[in-house]
Amino acid sequence: MRKSVFQKAPELKSAREIALMREAGKLVAAALRMCRDMAKPGVRTIDIDQAVEALFARHGAIPLFKGYPGQKVPFPAVTCISLNEQVVHGIPGPRQIRDGDLLKIDTACKLNGWCADAAITLPIGDVRPERRRLVRVAEEVLAIAIEEMGRRQWWSEVAQRMQKHAESNGFSVVQQYVGHGIGRIMHENPQVPNFVSRDLRDQDFRLEEGLVLAVEPMINMCRADTRVLSDHWTVVTRDGMPSVHVEHTLAITRQGVQVLTADEPPVNGPPSEPRAGTGVSPEASTLSSSG
Ligand code: MG
Repeated sequence: MRKSVFQKAPELKSAREIALMREAGKLVAAALRMCRDMAKPGVRTIDIDQAVEALFARHGAIPLFKGYPGQKVPFPAVTCISLNEQVVHGIPGPRQIRDGDLLKIDTACKLNGWCADAAITLPIGDVRPERRRLVRVAEEVLAIAIEEMGRRQWWSEVAQRMQKHAESNGFSVVQQYVGHGIGRIMHENPQVPNFVSRDLRDQDFRLEEGLVLAVEPMINMCRADTRVLSDHWTVVTRDGMPSVHVEHTLAITRQGVQVLTADEPPVNGPPSEPRAGTGVSPEASTLSSSG
């Protein structure tokens, strides 16, 4: 989302509310799994978008991107599909996916009143090693966020580690777009930057039980600067070099950080088979709180 000024403190969610958000998250994960299966050279990005729209409709979920108000025009699709130098907010259309592309798909829905938002980057076919490394490092940046959220007190401590990992690998963190709180609506307080800045020193927030964030690092191969195309939505790198975007909706729970948009239970135990006698949700990722 675009950076803007937030005034209110984050709204914390109950365990029951987080469980409802997990249901929305599972549907977003299923949509992205379907996208992964569809993403082959020759497929048009609009085909992927229409499949996600149909999946959400079958489950009675409200797509959150379609009609989202923009600076000039509402967003026209249920997914943002961005290729290569496109960072985020790409509009699906007749463009065909090609071998060697970096394909980024971002989608969100509301199910039974609660939202979830996630994004993946898929290397298509024979992708150059440096582009693959960019994908891997961006995924590591998100993994660092998931782990550190469970052991730090302030978001700035997490953001600093995310930025450091990207930059120590020779890449840059996009600063014009940030993650966000999420709950009954898609964009809630607070802003969730993937870097530290003077703004964050003023708008830092405490990592506490019940906090739910959509964390979405955007990592560029070269320079961090971006611009928006004349379609009023598609964000591209100014230098035309590739960018990677990955996102999960994450909740801080008593049991640890839970990845609400995970496609599989992130801890041992087979999918959708509750572990007996532990009293812990099979989906709660129990990350150490000692740090
Ligand atoms: Mg988001």
